[in-house]
Amino acid sequence: MNPFLELGIRHEVVNAITEMGFETPSPIQEKAIPVLLTGNDDFVGLAQTGTGKTAAFGLPLLELIDFTQKHPQALILCPTRELCLQISKDVEKFTKYLDNVNVVAVYGGANISDQLRQIRRGVQIVVATPGRMLDIINRKAIDFTKVQYVVLDEADEMLNMGFQEDINNILSETPDTKKTWLFSATMPREVRRIAQKYMTNPVELTVGTKNAGNANIEHQYYLIRAKDKYAAFKRIVDFYPEIFGIVFCRTKIETQEIAEALVKDGYNADSLHGDLSQQQRDKVMKRYRERNLQLLIATDVAARGIDVNDVTHVINFSLPDEVENYTHRSGRTARAGKTGISLSLVNVKEQSKIRHIEKIIGKSFERKQVPQGPEVCEKQLLAMIDKVNKVEVNQEQISPFLPAIMENMEHLSKEEIITRFASLEFNRFLEYYRNAPDLNMEAREGRNEERGERRDRSSSKGYTRLFMNLGSVDEFSRGEMLGFICNTAKISGKSIGKIDLKGVFTFFEVEDAEVENIFNNFKDVDFNGRQVRIEVSGDGRSEGRGGRSRGGDRNNRGGDRRERRSGSGSRDRKDSGGFRDFSGKRQYSKSRY
Ligand code: ADP
Ligand code: MG
Repeated sequence: MNPFLELGIRHEVVNAITEMGFETPSPIQEKAIPVLLTGNDDFVGLAQTGTGKTAAFGLPLLELIDFTQKHPQALILCPTRELCLQISKDVEKFTKYLDNVNVVAVYGGANISDQLRQIRRGVQIVVATPGRMLDIINRKAIDFTKVQYVVLDEADEMLNMGFQEDINNILSETPDTKKTWLFSATMPREVRRIAQKYMTNPVELTVGTKNAGNANIEHQYYLIRAKDKYAAFKRIVDFYPEIFGIVFCRTKIETQEIAEALVKDGYNADSLHGDLSQQQRDKVMKRYRERNLQLLIATDVAARGIDVNDVTHVINFSLPDEVENYTHRSGRTARAGKTGISLSLVNVKEQSKIRHIEKIIGKSFERKQVPQGPEVCEKQLLAMIDKVNKVEVNQEQISPFLPAIMENMEHLSKEEIITRFASLEFNRFLEYYRNAPDLNMEAREGRNEERGERRDRSSSKGYTRLFMNLGSVDEFSRGEMLGFICNTAKISGKSIGKIDLKGVFTFFEVEDAEVENIFNNFKDVDFNGRQVRIEVSGDGRSEGRGGRSRGGDRNNRGGDRRERRSGSGSRDRKDSGGFRDFSGKRQYSKSRY
């Protein structure tokens, strides 16, 4: 027998949720449904996000409500419009095969007269955000005297948002005999207080550890310099061509700035925050749900409780001020038994925050390395090849063109054709990531060292700092690099100063007097079929990384934007295969010899 039937849910509803893919009850559903079905108790349910709390209260409600009556019997309060819509849609789906069910979603920012009209027609279930609900109550447009069940969903967030007073006022409109069900992912003291205030001897159920995150989420962090944050972020996104992510920022301004910068850099991103009109928020969410948007840049409040399927990554562009919010953020991925990654970009100063979060969620974070340029290239290239493998060929439409194409390609072998097609995309990648610096920071690398390294970047007195497009990936050691430079330029090793061997490039100092020599002798040098390029490096600042404050980050993004405009313009991410500007490019072009 279907386990939901066994729990006491009627056939029609079971059929509907089976269509939604619900085969077995989630733990909170399994425990809560039998208790709630009695309709006798107040209830507190604590379960991590994405564990199916909506059905845990929604399904019992459907058994308890008398749908032959047309007055409000259940009131579900939740913090945001997005959640309000989500819950009402979920309930409507559950009731697909039930007759005479009327659910209304009551939330701010939308036309109130539509909502009032629906209420007048008669509803049994009201799903509402507190502000608009109160508005409607004050207009005396709804009768709550026969409400039997009040659900407080995401109660902690409603309190965070300052809805306490509104909730008090709304609840005072409902009869004392009603039952109150409170759901929350976390149980801060304020929620406990609310529970005490509004409930009598509630049955309390906790599924999983309180405050704990979902076991299917991998927690990762990247240690980077504050000023490299945006660059590191883009690189990580590039490393996951199939990413479908939510990016969390601390402020509305930050979400907007990052979304703008990303769009200008050719990414498919948009922001979601409280300053947008409701219509705009709806539009963004719709695009994201339909996967027409790859990156949703959001504030904590705006994205609370959002349920979008198959979010692959939650990215903490900035760590939340409150640890509890970390749980809420990461809960946007790995929903309904799937897996997901929650990754955080942190600088040295923020490392302690990670340790703190680890303690609270009882999980450890894995430190990841920001991928190097070549790794990103490889990932993107393979993603492209994968697309080639999967592309649907419309034989009929393409065939008229084929003879001419074939003729043109006749002289090429299969290997050559593959190489050339791959190069079409890949050349751009190589160019983009050509000078990509290592963005990782050593854990012990303190701020003093950061300063030290900065000093390192400018050349010593009497020396010029040069850039070369070969590095350790070309299997050079420092000694071999020294030999290569000296032999090629026919100069003495004594003229060479510091050599800074990086992955795909090298910085080295050469006596001012020998610079000319270097350029002359490296003019037509090939290394493994690659033209060796030497350029004068600017000092550290020219790497296009602004100051170190957050303001500096902003400048940096501004810089990226300017670069895009004067460059080839933003490309569609899909066409470009995710290939965009790279601030390092500016670094050398300025001072190109
Ligand atoms: P929560 O409110 O606990 O964060 P939701 O109620 O939004 O979680 O549910 C998360 C996701 O899991 C939704 O997409 C929902 O449709 C799905 N889901 C819920 N219960 C089940 C179940 N028993 N089987 C399969 N999927 C489920
Ligand atoms: Mg929920």
